[in-house]
Amino acid sequence: MAAPRSPSAPAPREERGPLGAARRWPEVVSSGTEVAATEPVAERLARYIRSGTLSLAALPPLSLYVHLPWCLKKCPYCDFNSHEARGEPDQSRYLDALNADLEAALPFIWGRRVHTIFIGGGTPSLFTPASIERLIGDIRARLPLEPMCEITLEANPGTFERERFHGYRAAGVTRLSIGVQSFDDAKLAALGRVHDAAQARAAVEEARAAFETFNIDLMYALPGQTMPEFEADLAAALAFAPPHLSVYHLTLEPNTVFAKFPPALPDDDTAFEMLDLITARTAAAGMERYEVSAFARAGHRCEHNWNYWQFGDYLGIGAGAHSKISFPHRVVRQTRFREPAQYMARALAGAAIASDEEVPRDQLPFEFMLNATRLREGFELARFTERTGLSLAALTPGLDAAERQGLIARDFTRVWPTERGFDFLSDLQALFLP
Ligand code: SF4
Repeated sequence: MAAPRSPSAPAPREERGPLGAARRWPEVVSSGTEVAATEPVAERLARYIRSGTLSLAALPPLSLYVHLPWCLKKCPYCDFNSHEARGEPDQSRYLDALNADLEAALPFIWGRRVHTIFIGGGTPSLFTPASIERLIGDIRARLPLEPMCEITLEANPGTFERERFHGYRAAGVTRLSIGVQSFDDAKLAALGRVHDAAQARAAVEEARAAFETFNIDLMYALPGQTMPEFEADLAAALAFAPPHLSVYHLTLEPNTVFAKFPPALPDDDTAFEMLDLITARTAAAGMERYEVSAFARAGHRCEHNWNYWQFGDYLGIGAGAHSKISFPHRVVRQTRFREPAQYMARALAGAAIASDEEVPRDQLPFEFMLNATRLREGFELARFTERTGLSLAALTPGLDAAERQGLIARDFTRVWPTERGFDFLSDLQALFLP
């Protein structure tokens, strides 16, 4: 083992599949063939669909991620592609750009239905309900959605007035994810958040009144946080009986203010104790830890993230968004231009893709396992072949090593992480690096 169980393993925020994966494992997304951002769509598509060494029997379910990149203020720990809104963002122009981006991407996903939509950021709740209604209408006009398609929107307390959540619900949003992080004024100030505890509580109350299902994002191991303080935070969150809770460890990411001026954080032992408390209290509250950092009541799992973790496909539109799209003979990743002004100009010109790459076949086992090992119930062996186009032999050495180390269990059809595998998740995933 490289290290004792790492509470920092489940670091990325709940609904951050594509952005989180890129941040933690840059080697995975920086290899492959980068092409000129100006490549015409037809040539790009021809490159994607030509024959190759992989053979995918079926294409996986497709999700759509939409990135809205502005926040009121940049938080000192944040390394997401978020930008301080200086004045009012031009919502209308950004929606035009998203539309053009989607139009240009349609040939890559032609004929496929969308299973889930996630509108993330940044702070999407800076956009008005009318803007979100237009966005969802624009998507519906271009893409066939599955019946009962889950449509999640991220919202931050302190960025909306009363009744805004009802407006999102009326616009077609089915699920809200609220970036609470803490119910403690001092901790929120230490995190540089724009909201206070009263606004956090008001946001959750409002979400509960407007939506049948919602998520609370909570963080632990905050600057100077003690066990009793975290216990109170967790109790405050559970008191709302949330259908879904996402709890993640504060980590110091490169290129953030906290990386430059690190605050004093609880030691590892305290962080482990906090993690144990989360597991125990959520279980007592009737929530299932179905993913390493996600807890849900029956029927309230996040379908969108579920698709990421099952190595499903996602088209990401918006500034800096990542996509993973499968074709019969390859799996392709794309990245949009990061900086909002540049993204808008490029997208409106029909060229929003900054780079793309074919995932090399020797990296596919790791990419698959990076996601699948996060799930409590693991994965079906047949799914590996279906989603990567590789034979099971590509996974066998890693599975054998993981089993010897007590990190996974398996039968003839499934593989799943053990308790120890969950605790040492990074070590488990590293066994599948090429
Ligand atoms: S509100 Fe969220 S996305 Fe925006 S800066 Fe803070 S952590 Fe980053």
